[in-house]
Amino acid sequence: MIAYTEEQIRRLNELGADSADIEKTFETNQQRNTFFQQKEKELVDFQQKRLKDLCENERRPHILTLEEKIAAALRSEGFLQVHTPIIMTKKRLEKMGVFKGSIMEKQVFWIDERRCLRPMLAPNLYEYMIELGKLRPRPIRFFEIGPCFRRETQGQKHSNEFTMLNLVEMGVPEGIDLREQLLKWGRVVLDAAGISDWKLASEDSTVYGETDDFVDKNGMELGSSAIGPHPLDAEWGVTDNWVGIGFGMERLTMSATDENNLAKAGRSLTYIDGIRLHL
Ligand code: ATP
Ligand code: MG
Repeated sequence: MIAYTEEQIRRLNELGADSADIEKTFETNQQRNTFFQQKEKELVDFQQKRLKDLCENERRPHILTLEEKIAAALRSEGFLQVHTPIIMTKKRLEKMGVFKGSIMEKQVFWIDERRCLRPMLAPNLYEYMIELGKLRPRPIRFFEIGPCFRRETQGQKHSNEFTMLNLVEMGVPEGIDLREQLLKWGRVVLDAAGISDWKLASEDSTVYGETDDFVDKNGMELGSSAIGPHPLDAEWGVTDNWVGIGFGMERLTMSATDENNLAKAGRSLTYIDGIRLHL
């Protein structure tokens, strides 16, 4: 049996073909090439249709709509939206236990000796825990949605730049189970994103130790959570209990739109809302 060439498979993937179409086999080369041409034309037409629809209706990628929906849902639950710097000092990052030689340290994009592009929002949110903690009654709820950067071997689920949604509740009232509270806030985000069939599963994290991950129906990690009191708290002077979750906006978009490649969900010059521009 004859399968598609690598080049044909790449093109079919770009155009969003189903895996059943991509795995199709043929009796002869001629048969395969004729079929490929037909399929390619069909898919290009469909992409044109999707682009027309996007330009006439939503007029922006799904990830931006999702960001707005989630931010509104969290604000209506009492969360304050914050907006912190993307450039981070080495000193602040080191307070997260991202030590020299650790896996995380190798993932950091350094600007110079002293500063990097933030690989996570947590250090800035710790700062807010302290500052708001001095000024506001408990419980204190806030979140940020913004760019993060990590040196990754780029794959289907990773990119060097992505958008993190990180929420924190600190000073959770006595008697409330913290894991239940994580589930509650996670559910607010996932409901707003229109994602069902997810679960909370135990994982090991280099920064937080044992954590619970929000995982979608295909087993993809959507977000990781942490609970305090936590060993890192002392470094920052945090003494309240807290719950926090970091979701990847591109992963949420992939899951909500049934897309299997992060390149189509994130910032791109070749795709807009998953639609291939080089048709
Ligand atoms: P993974 O194990 O999938 O590499 P992680 O556990 O290292 O992710 P976290 O530090 O838990 O990532 O970050 C919180 C969330 O941010 C992840 O659950 C994921 O949704 C998203 N995320 C992390 N790294 C990337 C990346 N390189 N590209 C896109 N999204 C990412
Ligand atoms: Mg994680």
